[in-house]
Amino acid sequence: MKRIFKVGVTVTLTALLTAPVAYAWTADYYWPHTRGQTLQITYKWGDRLDDVPNSVWRKVFTNGMNQWTTKTGNKVRFSESSSSSNILNTYDDDDGNYGICYRWTHWLTGKLTKFEAYGNVNTTAGVSDTFRQSVATHELGHGLGLGHSDQVAVMNTDRDRNRIYVPQTDDVNGILSMYP
Ligand SMILES: [Zn+2]
Repeated sequence: MKRIFKVGVTVTLTALLTAPVAYAWTADYYWPHTRGQTLQITYKWGDRLDDVPNSVWRKVFTNGMNQWTTKTGNKVRFSESSSSSNILNTYDDDDGNYGICYRWTHWLTGKLTKFEAYGNVNTTAGVSDTFRQSVATHELGHGLGLGHSDQVAVMNTDRDRNRIYVPQTDDVNGILSMYP
């Protein structure tokens, strides 16, 4: 009897949570992190960016990493390392995506072990650098473990990419909550 009651409660909560209302930041995955410490993430440039230091995609990825650090009050920091397995790169495919981020997790802990973030030079061929900045900062947000948001957020897939290109309050709240 008690068990049946519990099931009923679960169904009700699920119904509420899946109602079509705006939702704030979400976490897809977490990096291993110690409370109170800065989350340190390494990266290296992928094969399409390692030889082009002045390229726009390197610029927007670099800006994006600095934005996540600054906006979160140094809660996260990225540093370049030739031995890093995290990769920042571009790709060229008419797949409808402006960028993409692949993430790997530990088989046992479920925590993040690696990410690869890409800007799509095909679908962003005619856009502004501000637009590309928004894409890069968004993909880096995925690299930090964030999922999507329906709020005013760089992690909102429906944002105006020419206006929202740095982490917003909702994005920062996500990072501060995930990595206190
Ligand atoms: Zn996304």
